[in-house]
Amino acid sequence: MVLDITTLRVALGVVALTLLLLFYASFRRTRSSYNGWWCIALLCFLAGNLAFLLNGTPHQVWANPSGNVLLVAGALSVWTGARSLRMLPPPKWQFATACGVTALASVLESPGYNTWSGGLVYLGFMTLGIALASRDLWRLDSSYSHVHKSMALAAGFLAAYYFCRLAVYLVEGPTGPTFRMYFGPSIASLVTLVLLVAVSFSMTALSNDQLINRLSERAARDNLTGLLNRGTFMDLATQELERLHASSSVASLILADLDHFKAINDEYGHAAGDAALQAFAAACNESVRSTDLVGRYGGEEFILLLPGASQERAESIAADINRALAARKDFEDIHIPTVSYGVTSTGFDAVDLTAMIAAADAALYEAKSLGRNRVVRAAPRG
Ligand code: GH3
Ligand code: MG
Ligand code: MG
Repeated sequence: MVLDITTLRVALGVVALTLLLLFYASFRRTRSSYNGWWCIALLCFLAGNLAFLLNGTPHQVWANPSGNVLLVAGALSVWTGARSLRMLPPPKWQFATACGVTALASVLESPGYNTWSGGLVYLGFMTLGIALASRDLWRLDSSYSHVHKSMALAAGFLAAYYFCRLAVYLVEGPTGPTFRMYFGPSIASLVTLVLLVAVSFSMTALSNDQLINRLSERAARDNLTGLLNRGTFMDLATQELERLHASSSVASLILADLDHFKAINDEYGHAAGDAALQAFAAACNESVRSTDLVGRYGGEEFILLLPGASQERAESIAADINRALAARKDFEDIHIPTVSYGVTSTGFDAVDLTAMIAAADAALYEAKSLGRNRVVRAAPRG
């Protein structure tokens, strides 16, 4: 059976165009960055294939190097998309280097009459780009459905195929019998066609996962301060306390309430009040460790769970927060609010979160009645 390369390239182009239109429609709806990078990849595959259709015409001299660069850019877009699922930034310089080197190698090897100009570099970067995409898809965490494993395998298979193309190209060149039989453009187009459809099919599931993760991250946080909202804080803190109890570790809980906050709103306006809340949230984030939980309990009241921290350590963290708040530059026009804190600690016995909050709340109430702007330790239990 002789596979006609022109027909295959046209078929690949039509399939890529159809997928591109479908995925672009879905990208406009979801704004998932993975979906966006997949659209860019499809566009590159489409344009690269169209460029190769000009082989054998006077346009080959520019079309052939362009085709190489576009396909390499497509492979790197697949990789960039896989990285976006892992919240990693686009690999800008790797992208620029791969495209630049492919362009240079293709231009230097007589692209006017050599349809394999820059072939070695092109095959090398295709292998690398797809292999890296496969690795990043495989490493996705468990908040994604398992479809990413099959996509990683599909990409791994394609990377292995390109690696074999590269190896045989190195050994016998593009006119050798094995290369022409198994690794020439016809078979490569056919393999790409099948994988494009298979991967696109699973793509929808991954883009949806990305959307769901983004939405649940947003739903977990208070949108003024970016801290955990009350519900999420309660869930995470309950789990954390159980874990700490099982490992016989202590924990402390702080309730903080800005003093005379209503007066800030009344005097300077609601926007100034919002800015003060954001500044306090930032001061908390600056003063705690990444394993501590910080939430907005409601209004101008905040809550912190500090795993492993003793009562004394928690009191010194409250002092750190005050220092960080005083050092912030957000208060040029308004006076810095003072803060009252109620602090309690678990000791080594099992304590549930509600009891800790009640104890810290009583201490906070006492801080208010003693004149505010202070840290009060909860009365020992029992
Ligand atoms: P105290 O020292 O006793 O805590 O007095 P206070 O004024 O801080 O407490 P009070 O409970 O009387 O007032 C809290 C104010 O916080 C009232 C409410 O309008 C304001 N507030 C709650 N949430 C927000 C918010 O998201 N933005 C702004 N700007 N103000 C808020
Ligand atoms: Mg207050
Ligand atoms: Mg209050």
